[in-house]
Amino acid sequence: MKTAFIYTDAYLDYDYGPTHPLRIIRLKSTYELIKAYGLLDFPSVQFIPTVKAEEKDLAIFHSQEYLNILRQANEGILAGEAYVYGLGPGDNPIFPGLYHWSLLVTGATLQAVDFVAEGKGEIAFNIAGGLHHAMRARASGFCYINDPVIGIMRLLSRGKRVAYIDIDAHHGDGVQKAFYGTNQVLTISLHETGYTLFPGTGFEYEIGEGEGKGYSVNLPFPPDTDDDVYVWAFEEVVPELIHAFHPDVVVTQLGVDTFYDDPLTNLHLSMLGYEKVLRRIKEIAPRWVALGGGGYNISNVARAWVLAWAVMNGIELNEKLPESFLKEAVRFEIEGKELRGRLRAPLHCQNKENRMEMERVVRYIKETVLPEVLNKRKSLV
Ligand SMILES: [Zn+2]
Repeated sequence: MKTAFIYTDAYLDYDYGPTHPLRIIRLKSTYELIKAYGLLDFPSVQFIPTVKAEEKDLAIFHSQEYLNILRQANEGILAGEAYVYGLGPGDNPIFPGLYHWSLLVTGATLQAVDFVAEGKGEIAFNIAGGLHHAMRARASGFCYINDPVIGIMRLLSRGKRVAYIDIDAHHGDGVQKAFYGTNQVLTISLHETGYTLFPGTGFEYEIGEGEGKGYSVNLPFPPDTDDDVYVWAFEEVVPELIHAFHPDVVVTQLGVDTFYDDPLTNLHLSMLGYEKVLRRIKEIAPRWVALGGGGYNISNVARAWVLAWAVMNGIELNEKLPESFLKEAVRFEIEGKELRGRLRAPLHCQNKENRMEMERVVRYIKETVLPEVLNKRKSLV
């Protein structure tokens, strides 16, 4: 098994601003913890320094007028119409270099895609990627450029069949929308219900349209959903859907804002639930392009993504964080001295109503969505 980790310290040249919840330092702390554990030292692991994407790579999905606005915003120029494109104070601030930041993030996703598509290895991880809310001509939810969509489009252009699994706490709306009308991409999003969380979409009845009917799958979880209900629902539908769709490559968005102490969301996962899902993805994905995503408790992000990288490489990690890393823990805002920390134990919410609601959703998917994928697959074979 050959794997690639894509990263550059150049990410740290950019900053969403002092009060913004998306902190780029979490990428550095993940990289440093991976290095401290020696997880880049294996012969099977390739470290690939990030190279910026080119504008033509972005134009495959985004509109030219939107890219023009982003380029102006990159210089700190706030054009009058920027607001129309979702830019401005708040979620999607204009900060110096925001376009270059987006080129870097997208470049890393394309490098991960190329590594896997060209058969150089089976798994590639871009922790900076997974900016799944960006729309064709609009920034949204801290995302300016939709690197998952651009990565998937590159895979399609190389003749690959792609399934996308999004386990961020927020619905992967930008990716779903991009492929809503096609059966070339199966998108599956597990997230907190749109009734209580941004972006307010991702209900089970959003199943795709036209040729794409049955190829958009949504598992909206009620607030306080714990590991038990989450992992149960995942097991009930995701492996079977992937098996039925039979992709060449699985692209995942591995947001870590589902944990019970995340400040922006209301799901109640622990590291155990997260790890179970990751191990299962590894089993069902023939090849795997892994992207990062949300995660707003800074102390959790590095630990969760290091755990993910260990799962990808089939390595068991010492629970105690390496001494060399602990010396820098304060700088990285890492609390505790253990890998799983206080997220080591599941929080059992014992919420019967949540379980019943997800039984309803799972039943709906099995009766309404899965047959579409199975029948169309049969007609292809
Ligand atoms: Zn999120």
